[in-house]
Amino acid sequence: YTGQIIPPPAKYGGRHTVTLIPGDGIGPELLNHVRELFRFSCVPVDFEVVNVNSRLDTEDDINNAITAIRRNGVALKGNIETNHTMPPSHKSRNNLLRTSLDLYANVMHCQSLPGVQTRHKNIDIIIIRENTEGEYSSLEHESVSGVVESLKIITRLNSLRIAEYAFRLAREKGRKRVTAVHKANIMKLGDGLFLQCCKEVASGYPEIAFDSMIVDNTTMQLVSKPQQFDVMVMPNLYGNVVSNVCAGLVGGPGLVPGANYGRNYAVFETATRNTGKSIADRNVANPTAMLLASCLMLDHLKLHEYATMVRNAVLTTMNETRLQTADIGALNTAHRSQAVVFSGRPLHHWARACA
Ligand code: ADP
Ligand code: MG
Repeated sequence: YTGQIIPPPAKYGGRHTVTLIPGDGIGPELLNHVRELFRFSCVPVDFEVVNVNSRLDTEDDINNAITAIRRNGVALKGNIETNHTMPPSHKSRNNLLRTSLDLYANVMHCQSLPGVQTRHKNIDIIIIRENTEGEYSSLEHESVSGVVESLKIITRLNSLRIAEYAFRLAREKGRKRVTAVHKANIMKLGDGLFLQCCKEVASGYPEIAFDSMIVDNTTMQLVSKPQQFDVMVMPNLYGNVVSNVCAGLVGGPGLVPGANYGRNYAVFETATRNTGKSIADRNVANPTAMLLASCLMLDHLKLHEYATMVRNAVLTTMNETRLQTADIGALNTAHRSQAVVFSGRPLHHWARACA
């Protein structure tokens, strides 16, 4: 969904240029799958690779990446590791990137996938997460020894625009209901303002039902009866937690793509932004989430035919249990993720694209 965003992203000689940030852990290998698949499928996209070293003290690397995204308009990225043992002055590079580019809307569409065994079926939830403020403001200090204040910033402007985004998306997708997730019973001012803004925006969308749910109940309802949810909108940290719960419901972090949209830029990645250090470089990571993220990117570039072709190929492969990775139940871990990408029927579809 690109809504009000006005691309046109970098395009030279009929080809788009997209910034590619490999990141750490499984990021580089997942993005190699995408690049190889794009090459097989003759997708008219060139990648400008920008490496970010997560251990650097200066912010030069991430600033280079941000400049490249400003130039190209679009990026596909792996997660950049943020070690919590780094000093507090070391800000998350991922968070810096999102706030610098004002990528205010994080969108995750969580759907039950064919061929994946899960407790709950028929899940189809869109989660809209405010992506620039709330608990992620990086404003913390120890006012006196042993007392830390972490500031959670909720503004009327950003709450209105994320609510507006959620309702516009709901309308465009023909959705029936938007649920605002909050904890306004405790954070009466902060979450109260967020909730109030959602109510105001809802009044402009009479055809879409609006309700609200407290975040603790929401997580309980999600693991009990997830089919009750349609579109959900929430502040930053609740969005992080709720999207991880939802990813788990449909089969895990290796399956669900995510997107970050602002007025001018769009950045695509896996929905739960895992680094996956412990499984890196063994060719066992599930490539599905990143491949589907690349499809969202292709849709954003209005390369809809390529997006549909790649998506169909990926989803077809999900049905072939012999090609599944260990995270979704493959018994024989010798089934490598490369096999998932490059074996079987999908290749047949891809070969046609180049003809
Ligand atoms: P974080 O980067 O937030 O610390 P982790 O790397 O710990 O996240 O990932 C959480 C869990 O999800 C780990 O068990 C990891 O192996 C698993 N995981 C994440 N991405 C994938 C993937 N693409 N395929 C398979 N497992 C994955
Ligand atoms: Mg971890």
